Amino acid sequence: MVKLATLLVASAVATAQAAPRTVVIDPGHGGSNTGAKGAQLNEKQLTLALANQVTAKLRARGIAVVMTRTDDRTLTLRQRIAVANRLPADLFVSIHGNASPARNQRGYETFVLSARGVDVDGRALRGDMRTPRPNVDPEIALVLDDVERGAAQWEAADLAARTQRALRARRGEAGDRGVRQDAHHVLLGATMPAILVEVGFIDHPLEGRELAQPATQTQLADALVEAIEDQLAEL
Ligand SMILES: [Zn+2]
Repeated sequence: MVKLATLLVASAVATAQAAPRTVVIDPGHGGSNTGAKGAQLNEKQLTLALANQVTAKLRARGIAVVMTRTDDRTLTLRQRIAVANRLPADLFVSIHGNASPARNQRGYETFVLSARGVDVDGRALRGDMRTPRPNVDPEIALVLDDVERGAAQWEAADLAARTQRALRARRGEAGDRGVRQDAHHVLLGATMPAILVEVGFIDHPLEGRELAQPATQTQLADALVEAIEDQLAEL
């Protein structure tokens, strides 16, 4: 059973390498869920603007992209992950903007799915969240799901580190808040490497104004594209 699972993983990996890469870009919030509010713009607007740019740039490089939303609509966290799992996607990148109680924080940080998230919530979500595997014994499919989640976690950590490096190169070292491991709800149940990037603080008097500027949005989009492209080259 273990040997069979190993063989199936090897063949699944070989198939994935031959297939064109697909990235799911998730603009955080939307519709009735505005997210963080800034003086210049709201989080749901910033995330969609960035997601549109990232998507256009990735497609121009021949990478297939699916967005979880392309307009101002409300989506549950479960619906967003389901889009990525159904494909299944090679990477899942959720874009967010930050806010702080005293409006005095600034900088960018990236979250990866934590081990605790996999053990507790990954299993809880398994019922409707597993990777579609036609013609695979359901018992073996469960083993494959676990193996893939384990590998996906390391790859997510890589992608998160690349994202922070790419943002640091464009936004400056002072804003680097690092890679975080906290279980972030949107990432729970993902079967592929999944990260959530908080590109900056939308409610900070200076950074909020910067985030509303097209030049800054282009910097941020370029950083995400670079990280995603580099990560896909490694997969
Ligand atoms: Zn958010």
